[in-house]
Amino acid sequence: MTKQYDVLVIGGGPAGYVAAIRAAQLGLSAACVESEAYADPKGEVRLGGTCLNVGCIPSKALLQSSEYFDQANHAFVMHGISCDSVKIDVATMMRRKDNIVSQLTGGIRGLFKKNKVTLLVGHGKFVVPPARVATGAETGDEDDIWRIEVTGAKGSEVVQARHVIVATGSKPRHLPGIPVDNKLVCDNVGALSLDGVPKRLGVIGAGVIGLELGSVWKRLGAEVTILEALPDFLAVADQAVAMEAWKVFTRKQGLNIQLGVRIGKVTVSKKSVSVGYEVGDESFTLECDKLIVSVGRLPNTDGLGCQTVGLKLDERGRIAVDEHCRTNLENVWAVGDVVPGPMLAHKGMEEGIMVAELIAGQAGHIDYNTVPWVIYTHPEIAWVGKTEQQLKAEGVDYRVGQIPFLANGRALGQGDTTGFVKMLADAKTDRILGVHVIGNNASELIAEAVVAMEFGAASEDLARICHAHPTLSEAMHEAALAVEKRALHF
Ligand code: FAD
Ligand code: NAD
Repeated sequence: MTKQYDVLVIGGGPAGYVAAIRAAQLGLSAACVESEAYADPKGEVRLGGTCLNVGCIPSKALLQSSEYFDQANHAFVMHGISCDSVKIDVATMMRRKDNIVSQLTGGIRGLFKKNKVTLLVGHGKFVVPPARVATGAETGDEDDIWRIEVTGAKGSEVVQARHVIVATGSKPRHLPGIPVDNKLVCDNVGALSLDGVPKRLGVIGAGVIGLELGSVWKRLGAEVTILEALPDFLAVADQAVAMEAWKVFTRKQGLNIQLGVRIGKVTVSKKSVSVGYEVGDESFTLECDKLIVSVGRLPNTDGLGCQTVGLKLDERGRIAVDEHCRTNLENVWAVGDVVPGPMLAHKGMEEGIMVAELIAGQAGHIDYNTVPWVIYTHPEIAWVGKTEQQLKAEGVDYRVGQIPFLANGRALGQGDTTGFVKMLADAKTDRILGVHVIGNNASELIAEAVVAMEFGAASEDLARICHAHPTLSEAMHEAALAVEKRALHF
């Protein structure tokens, strides 16, 4: 008999697996189709998508290991701790990273069992649309059902579902003329599994991946050159944060970042890569032992059967959705990297939850203005809401409170005083419009600002809240006080 579910999710990444679990929690029969893209050493399909397998989790594991190495080499000495011969064993570092990935991906399998989500292994694709969608005519219940073909190594089957949630994620964008083999020329997959520290590492794209993975290999001893097409560094971040980051990354940490670059001919030889590029009228060549291409990601709709059923894509190939992640087809939803919006795991997870709750008849809503961003460099960069340049462009009257970590006792104690907290509030209402942090633990500090903005807080609300002393969060408190020009410690 044909298997039938209330909800069928295509894609087992953070957006998809969370949607499936939430649907099951709400009493709906739920299944999740995951292709054989990622597998454990025994050949079992791994859930968790890009994020757990080749994204957020492995990159953060390597960032942590390389950060310890860097601290042992450069920061411990100020505490009177000497480490004369610090060494890095890349194989051990990679094994640790792989173990974390195994632990977490296995954990999702456990969560599926616990919540009674059925895992269907194979590539999912829409086959014929329900009769009612195809003809526009009202028909019986039987014909309101979507049919999805799941094709895996063990064969093919067609399953049915009342609701389909597409969560097929994204894949790395490659550049014409630069074939990625994930040995010499890598995208995120190869860059997270290098078998040693390259002497000279080239990176194309000074975005989030370029900066995070460039930092990993720089800390471990590589000479890193990052080639960025845009003339501005970190254009998505608040300008003050981007300027501070530029100073630290280039002058203090020695990342060589070239802006306004036009990539030319790339030649791959047996053991090295040669990248021709131009800046203005001048031509250069970068010789490197490994090259990482990190120039953004593309929505993944390969072989999904979009045309068969008339699933609408936007001009950039993403599945077109409304503010509730509804597609143009009845009872077909799409979430995560495959739809417009920032390609962030937590944004996808929230969309998955929202859709599952809407299907179950509950209310669901996401405020995209309060989705936090974090770049896990050192110092970390995190923000929520509007940047100062956005507010200026929108003609909003705002006030600024900015506090450096140099004025924070905990930061001094930790020996890590780089950066600041910057708060932007509406000049008339005092409502917080944006918060930008560059500094140690910015990833954790930003949560307070997200909560404040979700609750529509004014800067005065944060200024009146008692913050533990001595903590880095006092810098958030002081930034709120600074909006009113009444900071106490700066
Ligand atoms: P994905 O995670 O891409 O999952 C989609 C899944 O669908 C995949 O498992 C794929 O195999 C499967 N699939 C695709 N098509 C089909 C099909 N037809 N049938 C069956 N299965 C299919 N985000 C953060 O928020 N924080 C970070 O620190 C962070 N770090 C990152 C670091 C790197 C190096 C990279 C590359 C990304 C990082 N991201 C980070 C982004 C994050 O990984 C993505 O935003 C997130 O994984 C998107 O989730 P998703 O579920 O939409 O898609
Ligand atoms: P990105 O969009 O962050 O950065 C890509 C960079 O490449 C941009 O600065 C762009 O101007 C540059 N670029 C594009 N074409 C170029 C060219 N031809 N030559 C030189 N430079 C070029 O993309 P990414 O770093 O590949 O990351 C992909 C996505 O993954 C991001 O959108 C991000 O949302 C997600 N991600 C998030 C995190 C995090 O949350 N900490 C970490 C890694 C990745």
